[in-house]
Amino acid sequence: MNCTENLLHENLGICGDNLTFAGYDTVELAKKYGTPLMLLDENKIRNTMRTYKNAMQRYFGEKARPLYASKALSFVGMYQIAMEEGINTDIVSIGELYTAIKAGFPLENAFFHGNCKTDNDISYAIENKIGFFIVDTYDELYAINKIAGEYGVKQKILFRITPGIDPHTHEAISTGKVDSKFGTAIETGQAYEITKTALSLENIDLRGFHCHIGSQIFEIEPFCDAADIMISFIGEIRERLGYTAEYLNLGGGFGVRYVESDPCIDYSENIRRISEHIREYCENNDLPYPIILMEPGRSIVADSGLTVYTVGSVKEITGYKNYVAIDGGMSDNPRYALYGSQYTVLCANKMREKCDYVCTIAGRLCESGDLIQENVKIPKVQRGDNIAVLVTGAYNYSMASNYNRVARPAVVLLGETDRLAVRRESIEDVSRLDILL
Ligand SMILES: *Cc1c(COP(=O)(O)O)cnc(C)c1O
Repeated sequence: MNCTENLLHENLGICGDNLTFAGYDTVELAKKYGTPLMLLDENKIRNTMRTYKNAMQRYFGEKARPLYASKALSFVGMYQIAMEEGINTDIVSIGELYTAIKAGFPLENAFFHGNCKTDNDISYAIENKIGFFIVDTYDELYAINKIAGEYGVKQKILFRITPGIDPHTHEAISTGKVDSKFGTAIETGQAYEITKTALSLENIDLRGFHCHIGSQIFEIEPFCDAADIMISFIGEIRERLGYTAEYLNLGGGFGVRYVESDPCIDYSENIRRISEHIREYCENNDLPYPIILMEPGRSIVADSGLTVYTVGSVKEITGYKNYVAIDGGMSDNPRYALYGSQYTVLCANKMREKCDYVCTIAGRLCESGDLIQENVKIPKVQRGDNIAVLVTGAYNYSMASNYNRVARPAVVLLGETDRLAVRRESIEDVSRLDILL
């Protein structure tokens, strides 16, 4: 098969022999900025944010909002883009919060997640007037109540609830997802109890509930199932405690196409279908229709990202396999090493050549498991060729490390012009925290 038939997304193309991304020649960009290089399609990020916002407001109601789950990709420019597109954000640490502050992001639209917020995290967020905490446990609830009291604030919160859904079988199950480090389970009665407690606390303003059932979910049924369980829970709370939740946050998790065999998803259509289901369920069961929030991370940035590397060596082990080693690896993309994630790999400067060379793309780090993908088919490559790994916008740069004291890549935004959004780390950056003994 010829590579030209095999382009996964509409922002990919071919010019001469080279791969283009968002209309830019990736080989030229590699020359200009060096490799490894993280490229981002700014228009696609903005369009996806708009798609979510418009569809949610249209189908769920004017007050519905997407929250960009910024753990997927966090740097100052991302919060500026989210702010300009008028969407809210999730943060999970004061590092992300500080980054949002540097962007000038309005923190009343920020939601603080995480299963182990420290007193310092809570104080810092309240001091900076965070919109909401999404609360996991009693420990956190009491800590927020105490610290909010010290600041003279009645702090808005949502509770993270585990509805007990396995998104990959669609089934509501009694163990498994109830057994999670995140949230409080409905099934054990603990979600009811913690709600009752929250309503009695002086400095806590409980506004509703949250659930997040998983990631890379292609169907809508798991979201509908989760919504049913959550709305029934809201109904139960209303009946037993006389408290009506204002918000229901359905979390993130829409799937993204990484390889040919993954389906394409129409996010707007999915939102429409989920909204119809929820309206029907509320009407049939005489339950209140809440303000819906969603938390897309991966689906906002994944296919807006692409990483370009340079081949450093090709090793053919007779009778075994071929290794193509690149100048990055698990230090900028740990996802194959972590969970065997699938990726599409192309040779960016040989787009018109036959893809008949079977090889494993290996990183440069000192771990045998430092692989980007095994058994891919690309043209025969040599030192100096450029390898493009597609759909790397989410959970790549944000999970990058300095293992082996490798510097992290530059991030370049491709919009009307190409512009640096995060500069490449230097070797001085890598040792900047060290103290000479
Ligand atoms: C990771 C996460 C998200 C984003 O999930 P995606 O699969 O990237 O859309 C949303 N909400 C919570 C609570 C998360 O932990």
